[in-house]
Amino acid sequence: MDELKFGSKNKRGDFTPKEPLQIAPYFEFPPNPIKLLKFLKGYLWPWNLLFMAVAALFYFYLTPSPQTTKTLAVGWIAFILARNAVLVFIIYGLLELRLYIKRAQGNRFKFHGQFPADRPSDVFMFKSQNVDNIIRSFVSGVPIWTAWEVFGLHTYANGWGPWTTFAEHPFWLLTFAFFLPFWHEFHFYCIHRLIHVPVLYKYIHSVHHNSINPSPWSSLSMHPVEHLLYWSDSLIHLVLPSHPLLFLYGLQITGTGAVVGHIGFDKIEVGSEGAIPTHAYAHYLHHKYFEVNYADGTTALDKLFGTWHDGSKEAHAQMDARYAKKIARVNNKS
Ligand SMILES: [Zn+2]
Ligand SMILES: [Zn+2]
Repeated sequence: MDELKFGSKNKRGDFTPKEPLQIAPYFEFPPNPIKLLKFLKGYLWPWNLLFMAVAALFYFYLTPSPQTTKTLAVGWIAFILARNAVLVFIIYGLLELRLYIKRAQGNRFKFHGQFPADRPSDVFMFKSQNVDNIIRSFVSGVPIWTAWEVFGLHTYANGWGPWTTFAEHPFWLLTFAFFLPFWHEFHFYCIHRLIHVPVLYKYIHSVHHNSINPSPWSSLSMHPVEHLLYWSDSLIHLVLPSHPLLFLYGLQITGTGAVVGHIGFDKIEVGSEGAIPTHAYAHYLHHKYFEVNYADGTTALDKLFGTWHDGSKEAHAQMDARYAKKIARVNNKS
């Protein structure tokens, strides 16, 4: 596929998409229906539909019954831990295998022209970004995700919280499900800003930012404290009337969904002319420049607070001006 129809390459081989990133158009006035429909398509396809499908598969076939989860026991908790680990291994592993190990499309559409494996670095365990990222994902990421899931299923089984059914409140549950990705992004924006406070960044969030050139395994490579905060968005299900299917969908958006920003490619080629959009560019720019795009543009919070970078030269100039101001402020203080 000719990537140059969709963007440009610099001499280091870094790909930049031609179209600047768009924030959600629902804040525009007057509303633009075409733009809204286009946004809606990207909001659902491909990721959130996949996460909904996985949540349904889990809910109907791979989650123990409330009679079982009513009592905490090693057996069913170990089962959930294993099924989450297998899911992450399959989805992250397949993306990594195709794009980074087999390098099936070379560096076409790759934001960073190089591959992390070609540049071993001391910041990682065993000098390998992949090995370091995999250890952090499975030693603390998936277990902490599972702990949140066990907590939710156990509270549901015991009737703690305002749980409801599709028979009782179908319209509310569908609306809630529709807005769950929005809620996830809002929550992520808030905790993400928090862990960029210098002292928290130094001890906690810098672990995630070690991957300047992220690959799928970087997605859940975080400090355990960040893992704990990251899935705390699931507490919404104990505040608003919810259903376990929505609870599992939310965990998918957060857990498996972490991969979305870390694919490192703008498109995944399918066959000779097809391609799946990844929606990875906004978060890639966060890994590259640190203080932009704390979220992905669904909530428009970055735009509101002046940290939105859409990949254009203008946005870059704005970012540089903001950094220059910040440096001047620090210098004036000292
Ligand atoms: Zn990241
Ligand atoms: Zn960050």
